Amino acid sequence: MSKQKQRREALIYHAKPQPGKIKIVPTKPYATQRDLALAYSPGVAEPCLEIAKDKANVYKYTSKGNLVAVISNGTAVLGLGNIGPEASKPVMEGKGLLFKIFADIDGIDIEVDTENVDDFVQTVKNIAPTFGGINLEDIKAPEAFEIERRLKEELDIPVMHDDQHGTAIISAAALLNALELAGKKMEDVQIVISGAGAAAVSCTKLYKAFGAKAENIVMLDSKGVIRKDAENLSPAKMEFATDKDINTLEEAMVASDVFIGLSIANIVSPEMLLSMAENPIVFAMANPNPEIDYNLACETRKDIIMATGRSDHPNQVNNVLGFPFIFRGALDVRATGINEEMKMAAVKALAELAKQPVPEQVNIAYGETRLTFNREYIIPKPFDPRLISEIPPAVAKAAMDSGIAQQPIDDWEKYKEELMQ
Ligand code: NAP
Ligand code: MG
Repeated sequence: MSKQKQRREALIYHAKPQPGKIKIVPTKPYATQRDLALAYSPGVAEPCLEIAKDKANVYKYTSKGNLVAVISNGTAVLGLGNIGPEASKPVMEGKGLLFKIFADIDGIDIEVDTENVDDFVQTVKNIAPTFGGINLEDIKAPEAFEIERRLKEELDIPVMHDDQHGTAIISAAALLNALELAGKKMEDVQIVISGAGAAAVSCTKLYKAFGAKAENIVMLDSKGVIRKDAENLSPAKMEFATDKDINTLEEAMVASDVFIGLSIANIVSPEMLLSMAENPIVFAMANPNPEIDYNLACETRKDIIMATGRSDHPNQVNNVLGFPFIFRGALDVRATGINEEMKMAAVKALAELAKQPVPEQVNIAYGETRLTFNREYIIPKPFDPRLISEIPPAVAKAAMDSGIAQQPIDDWEKYKEELMQ
């Protein structure tokens, strides 16, 4: 499809038949006078009084428990940069659509007109009583780190900045499986991380939680290798600064096992790929164009295990594999947050699912004849119907085991059946 045609289609899709992508639909009868007397005054006073007596009743009598706010200030929207709150609204509505279709969660977009961290945090805190969870979205680093940290501390509902943790969770699942195929161990591999922004920092932290060794990691930003002897490093960059006496990507790539790209397009050359160790794992995730073109990389190294952020190649690191199901699990046990245990459980469940036989309907949905666990299939596909029955229970169980579930599940079979309805 030509760029022009794609642009026209996208604008018509958003404008017709009515502007936008979501609307609100009542869930209770409203046809008679009696219905209305229950829905609103005088009947509505009864649940109000029950909630006033005990706040926990808000989950029993309102939509809070299934309502997630998708909140942005529009400062880092997709790859479009700081385009402001109004211009970010189509993305946030889109996320609402994805929450709904993948996990039957009502995701409401909230666009906040401030770039000030204190104001943003206060705004989210003030409206938090409405919601069962908060998905922070497309907020620029480093502000995003502080905003998320403070909201997690100060709120007792699940809060997750998807640009950081979504990518970390999906790519970690892909990395576990790629390492298995390459016959390597997380503890031993030399990892090059290109990028030191929101996504790269959070990914690297999660890989460390899965065993990657700090001394085996080299991270680069726009100025080159981040070295311990550099001046004025931010705390996030300081954590991943290296002792090694190297400066360039070219030097860092020599004999490395894993390349993680969360930076910009076309910075990895075929020569750099050729200098990597055998069975190189290359996740070139800059969007829309990866650090090295998929076909060029596969032609250069026949033994490569490659993933990108793009849907037109195998192994797409797509956040939609994570956030709907992670929030589903967190909401269903009324978790007070989304902790490391829950994220790691999601990683393991995703990695495990990719190793299971693939249902025929998934092959059909993607025009594949036979998807099986191999170099070109290391993470599940978004339209895999098993995601909804496998990932939320794993997340919910991790919330229970780590002591932050307020409403534990005991009948797991019944829960899985409910998820599949
Ligand atoms: P970000 O916070 O703006 O970070 C971008 C980072 O890239 C910065 O640390 C920047 O360095 C660094 N950088 C720029 N030029 C570089 C170069 N030549 N070599 C090495 N590093 C360089 O952005 P982000 O949210 O982390 O996203 C980064 C990229 O990953 C984007 O392309 C985004 O689309 C992509 N991404 C993909 C997925 C996915 O596939 N699922 C998910 C998230 C993000 P400085 O710190 O020096 O400025
Ligand atoms: Mg985003």
